[in-house]
Amino acid sequence: MEEIKLYAMTCGWITMPAGFFLSGQTGNLAIPIPSYFIEHPKGTILFDTGLETALQSKDPDVISSALGAFADLTTVQYHPGEEVSARLEKFGIDPKKINFIINSHLHFDHCGGNAAIPNARWILQKREWIAANNEENIAKKIYTPHQYDLGHDRIEVDGEYDILQDGTLILIPTYGHTDGHQSLKVKLGDKTIVLTADACYLKHSLEKMALPDAMVVSDPESLLKNYRLFKSLQEKGAKIIFGHDPTQSPTLTDGEIKRIYPEDIQ
Ligand SMILES: [Zn+2]
Repeated sequence: MEEIKLYAMTCGWITMPAGFFLSGQTGNLAIPIPSYFIEHPKGTILFDTGLETALQSKDPDVISSALGAFADLTTVQYHPGEEVSARLEKFGIDPKKINFIINSHLHFDHCGGNAAIPNARWILQKREWIAANNEENIAKKIYTPHQYDLGHDRIEVDGEYDILQDGTLILIPTYGHTDGHQSLKVKLGDKTIVLTADACYLKHSLEKMALPDAMVVSDPESLLKNYRLFKSLQEKGAKIIFGHDPTQSPTLTDGEIKRIYPEDIQ
């Protein structure tokens, strides 16, 4: 079989209180906003799409409505050309021809680029779709529907799911950050890469089994169970790519799209 290629991009950065990511920590932490592009013989896939381009605006009202509930906690470092569609175009990939979008979950920093990938089929957990349509969640602006309710052809999955039915791209349910969060296992040759997304923000989160702030924990027990799963995969040789680790991210890409080789992952 033709080989599968996995690429990392960073599509802007945001700064939030460190305690948001690691409960009890003080100060601020700047974190990268990643998106991953996968070239598979059966199609092209994006795993998470980053921030909406409205967040490149200088208008505080525009920014505030894009950040929703996270507005007071977040400052954004995001410039024209850093959005996922621009990263892809520069690499010669037409965003309109991407076959699938996978969203780990539907927070603003994971699905903001969906609008720029209009023709893809959209894969998410059924439970996340329910959470993102919950009136209370929308009223609280934990979810901001203009970023994801865009009419994509939706594939709702329930739990583990082998996307292309060949064992190379397996969605794993990692509920607990949100009700329907999912992570992705990618098989590259004989190596397994795990894209945790927000099931594990930082390397430190896993090392210390440290939970984030309660605002982004829907179920602490499930989050700890996810950590244990990632540790056991790591012990079996899998490489873990954390959701927003500011130290790991620059080893994968300087922002621009860059191919990931398992042996390079720290
Ligand atoms: Zn999140």
